Amino acid sequence: MGGAVPNNRVRVGILGATGMVGQRFVQMLANHPNFVVTALAASDRSRGKPYGEACTWRLVGEMPAFVKPMVVQSPQPPLDCDVVVSSLPSDIARGAEESFALAGYPVISNASAFRMDADVPLLIPEINADHLNVIPHQQRERGFGEGYIVTNPNCSTIIMALALAPLHQRFGIEAVVATTLQAVSGAGYPGVPSLDVVDNVLPFIDGEEAKMERETRKILGRLGHSAFEEAPFVVSAQCHRVNVADGHMVAVRVKLAERAGIEQIYEALSEFRSIPQELRLPTAPERPIIVRDENDRPQPRLDRDAGGGMSVTVGRLFPDRVLDYRFVVLGHNTIRGAAGAAILNAELLQARGLLPGKSKRESSSAPAEARVR
Ligand code: NAP
Repeated sequence: MGGAVPNNRVRVGILGATGMVGQRFVQMLANHPNFVVTALAASDRSRGKPYGEACTWRLVGEMPAFVKPMVVQSPQPPLDCDVVVSSLPSDIARGAEESFALAGYPVISNASAFRMDADVPLLIPEINADHLNVIPHQQRERGFGEGYIVTNPNCSTIIMALALAPLHQRFGIEAVVATTLQAVSGAGYPGVPSLDVVDNVLPFIDGEEAKMERETRKILGRLGHSAFEEAPFVVSAQCHRVNVADGHMVAVRVKLAERAGIEQIYEALSEFRSIPQELRLPTAPERPIIVRDENDRPQPRLDRDAGGGMSVTVGRLFPDRVLDYRFVVLGHNTIRGAAGAAILNAELLQARGLLPGKSKRESSSAPAEARVR
């Protein structure tokens, strides 16, 4: 898209724009106060077609009108944008994202390709905003110049890590045992064949258990001198695909380093607020963690849209006879677990002055609220 960009908003390109997560990006960015979508990229199947033709819209509500005539391009630089968000399949993401970073673009990725690299932040803004301090090191080591790569975690991992963060900060965690029940939209479109998942539960999601076990420790770990020190606890995860459209649920048992009463656990979870809430980032939920007391909550249909899909909901909080405490946490996998996570990352990067393009170049003339919300 050429021409004037309203209100000096940062111009965003979406890689993988036609997929399940790409569609969420389009939906969530359609009326964003600080960002405007100016480029869309996907596979050869879609390239050269208007988005309205290339993309079969799978979300509730209409495809935003502005995006329909935009022609889908190849996920290679240059694209007419200041920053790219990526929801490419991981095998494609590695090469494509690296080429954008080398070409000077900030890359904000959902894919797993770079998540565990030693110089790449695995960012949840409520938990580890300080991990962004590794970016200059990454730029030097990889010759990225102005470009860089920031990732968000795996969908189930984000949802669980949000609930673990206040417990780790206040009491220390020694061990976590997690069992997931994950929605079918987590596998993209068309994803899991209906004959496999209807009237069924699949006790295997390729790579998911290892991602939860490794990523959680990096997220809750510390950034030392240009290197991450993983959090010193063990995580054991078992992952299941269930017949739910959206919303991943995780049953968690946790062993703490310090003794804590159930009231303290309840308070730590329900009072948790952090940098995105302080900065009033546009996509930040007022309450990152909602704790519910009803016996039968959280449920995917009732709770996945809490906080616009950006809050996670905790319930079934009890002392545990084997470890210390147990609870169930639920979140929206394509919002807090994917597109919303990356957009919140972009908002934090902008607030920290790390997004180039219109917002930075024209910062002296832009109203303060358009630069840092
Ligand atoms: P999806 O629905 O299958 O969409 C994949 C997207 O990538 C489509 O836009 C597709 O374009 C494009 N693509 C596929 N092959 C390509 C190629 N060879 N070259 C260029 N583009 C290609 O998948 P998704 O669920 O959106 O997931 C996308 C990424 O986000 C994956 O890395 C996934 O692990 C991650 N993720 C997903 C979730 C979730 O809940 N779904 C959560 C967290 C992270 P065409 O339409 O043109 O084929």
